[in-house]
Amino acid sequence: MAEYGIHHATFGESTPSIFEIIGQENLFSALRAAFRHGFKVLAENNPGKFGLLFKYFDEGYTVIDSVFQYIHLRLKGGLFPETFYGLKRIPDPRDLSVSKRKIAAWVFFAVVFPYLQSQLELLYKDMREEYSQGSFSYKGFKRRVALLYLKFYPVYNFIYEITVLAYYMTYALKLTRFHSPLMHVTSTTLTHLTAFDLIDDAWKEYVPEHQKQKLTTTLWNGLNVFVGGVTLSISIGAFLTQFINWWYNKEGNTSSFVSLPVPPPPRKWNLEEPIEICPLCKKKRTNDTVLSSSGFVFCYPCIFRFVRENNKCPVTGYKSSSQQLVKLYHQEEY
Ligand SMILES: [Zn+2]
Repeated sequence: MAEYGIHHATFGESTPSIFEIIGQENLFSALRAAFRHGFKVLAENNPGKFGLLFKYFDEGYTVIDSVFQYIHLRLKGGLFPETFYGLKRIPDPRDLSVSKRKIAAWVFFAVVFPYLQSQLELLYKDMREEYSQGSFSYKGFKRRVALLYLKFYPVYNFIYEITVLAYYMTYALKLTRFHSPLMHVTSTTLTHLTAFDLIDDAWKEYVPEHQKQKLTTTLWNGLNVFVGGVTLSISIGAFLTQFINWWYNKEGNTSSFVSLPVPPPPRKWNLEEPIEICPLCKKKRTNDTVLSSSGFVFCYPCIFRFVRENNKCPVTGYKSSSQQLVKLYHQEEY
């Protein structure tokens, strides 16, 4: 069995903190969610072209991600989110060699297993929906199995979640080297990347001697450039997303951070006429009426006619309607 283990085998003494562990796990699911969202938007805008792609998104993503993570594990010594967080994998300390089979197992537990779990969850939700609506389509033996599934899936899910939580806690308390049950199954731990791992050509040490013929090296060189490109685009993508979020919050959603800015004081309009003169007929006002959009006072007949015809205030030009006319009642008229 070929060994790819130089990266994996270089022991780092440092154990990643629980925050790094949770961070890289969140990145793993966030990437899937981001791609899913992208395809959803595409499918909504162009159902003919992308509808089918979105329907089988989970399957397609699982296949592509499996291949990508396999290459990443071979070249960088860790899954993409792990090396993104500066971590790499150490295989079973009793056997530092990393076989293809081991990498396949890692990919299975990191990519395929979560996919299978999400499918079980979907199946359970669909069945429960049917059952609660009384439209349970299963008959005979299948029905008995389906009912058992409805009964035991929540138990399985609860036990799994509790186990994951227990691993997190015991890992945080340094009682175990494994941060998840799936890592325990493959006896794999994580450690920080060393300075050596960060050299661009480090992966070359990682290709077994007998494979270092020209063709293979070119192939892996190309793959290395590809993996580097993906890492870079995702880093830039993550940065841009953060930036757009920040920008959007800054522009449109200020109320969530600070109170709205104080509007500038209203413009002062200098009228030559004394205050009791109507700006329209230039005579002493009768039947005083204020236009609430601007605050100026006119005779009722003058302003009613003007606003009906022009839909604006004659003094300020503010958009106005006859709905905004308010009769003023002076003291002496009570
Ligand atoms: Zn008037």
